[in-house]
Amino acid sequence: MDAPFLYNDFSTFLKRHFPFKVQKISLNAGFTCPNRDGTKGYGGCTYCNNQTFNPEYCRTDKSIVQQLEEGKLFFARKYPQMKYLAYFQAYTNTYGGLEALRRKYEEALAVDDVVGLVIGTRPDCMSDELLDYLAEQKERTFVLIEYGIESTSDKTLRRINRGHTWAETVDAVRRTSERGILCGGHVILGLPGETRADMVRQAEDISSLPLTTLKLHQLQLIRGTRMAREYEEKPEDFHLFDVDEYMEVVIDYVERLRPDIVLERFLSQSPKDLLVAPDWNLKNYEFNHRLWKRMRELDAYQGKKYDKCGK
Ligand code: SF4
Repeated sequence: MDAPFLYNDFSTFLKRHFPFKVQKISLNAGFTCPNRDGTKGYGGCTYCNNQTFNPEYCRTDKSIVQQLEEGKLFFARKYPQMKYLAYFQAYTNTYGGLEALRRKYEEALAVDDVVGLVIGTRPDCMSDELLDYLAEQKERTFVLIEYGIESTSDKTLRRINRGHTWAETVDAVRRTSERGILCGGHVILGLPGETRADMVRQAEDISSLPLTTLKLHQLQLIRGTRMAREYEEKPEDFHLFDVDEYMEVVIDYVERLRPDIVLERFLSQSPKDLLVAPDWNLKNYEFNHRLWKRMRELDAYQGKKYDKCGK
């Protein structure tokens, strides 16, 4: 008997796009962040680690090609036939002039066995000019833009000094999707000032966007961040989930989510030496197994309550 449908998972999504196994390789392409240098804001998002944000860190010694070749070596030992997506992950990977950006993306695409780009960025850092270029690229290769949405509440976005609004997210996702470019989002559950009901309601706003993929992450407090200091000074302002509680929120969220959105992951895993709290000591796949079990127990599945949201 087939396993019951629980949610749209990312590996099935990749199988729909590629007839071979595909792995993302994370890159630090030497980008910086406009929410720190004053272009969009100062100080950065309050949860972002200040210590790792310095020009030295961003100025990686390794070229994009070198990073990809090293990543390929790592995975090819196990799966020699594997192909790869160049994942421009660190900082704001659309922050720069078009020519400089093109050079970086095309450097990655020229590497053997690289079959596409995944580009992480902020919603307020995506020009029409760049989208037009990416729309041309997607005729030749796989392209997915991943926007850091984080919250759909402007009050929360101000509180975490995100430096952009929900309206800017809506605009960026719309402009991306209008060009037929695959569009992903990333949100954090557990941000200060948001109740459990707010978080679950967020699924309705997210469902209204033409998103293809979504990552949910629990809030993690990282050493050296403004948010970690705020927590130290006023812990009562925060509600840090334990695993079971977070899982219940995720299930409520997923049930209210549009049924076709692909859920890429549910957990963030910051390095232990940087993590203040919560320390769940749980790998992504371990969380997924527990989630599947709990969803089956509850007869929960993605979109089960979506119609009731009135969308
Ligand atoms: S989270 Fe991203 S956008 Fe925010 S300060 Fe850090 S690098 Fe910049």
